[in-house]
Amino acid sequence: MVDLTALIRDVPDFPEPGIVFKDIMPLLADADSLRAVVAALADPWFEESLTAVVGIEARGFLLGTPVAMALGVGFIAVRKAGKLPGPTEQQTYGLEYGTDTIEIHADAISPGDHVLVLDDVLATGGTAAAAGAMVQRLGATVAGYSFLVELGFLGGRARLGDTRIEQLLLVDAGAED
Ligand code: AMP
Repeated sequence: MVDLTALIRDVPDFPEPGIVFKDIMPLLADADSLRAVVAALADPWFEESLTAVVGIEARGFLLGTPVAMALGVGFIAVRKAGKLPGPTEQQTYGLEYGTDTIEIHADAISPGDHVLVLDDVLATGGTAAAAGAMVQRLGATVAGYSFLVELGFLGGRARLGDTRIEQLLLVDAGAED
């Protein structure tokens, strides 16, 4: 496996003071690493009989689409409010300051679907939990959540219930430690 830590760039104080941003662009730009990461993200889920991968805007699109192809299923986008043209299901969730709203096309998910929710980074878990809640409201089940990086010190997995969670890289310490 490639050395993920060398290819995920820590950018201190971005987009605001105190946040260490995990920049995955160097990893995406490296052909061997990109191929290895997509294969590793897909690997745990082959036995799950998934019907789709649900990727969260925007870096969840970049990784989710090739992972869906590797798993032989389609890709469904979760976007920020106002970006999807069709009738949507919405979920608003709390941020440190204020709220955010994400959406999914209501006709993209059907009862009986069994989906993987994928994003680049699990931080506080609010975004992934909101995506999972929309999927469940549309009658489907969440097979699990997959992340390239889990910021373990933020405790985000506690917001995802008992559902299976896989991550390729666990970061235990934050900037504030
Ligand atoms: P959260 O809802 O707090 O789990 O935040 C997850 C979303 O915010 C994901 O879509 C991530 O891409 C992004 N995100 C949060 N924290 C970071 C970070 N330190 N570096 C890069 N992306 C982050």
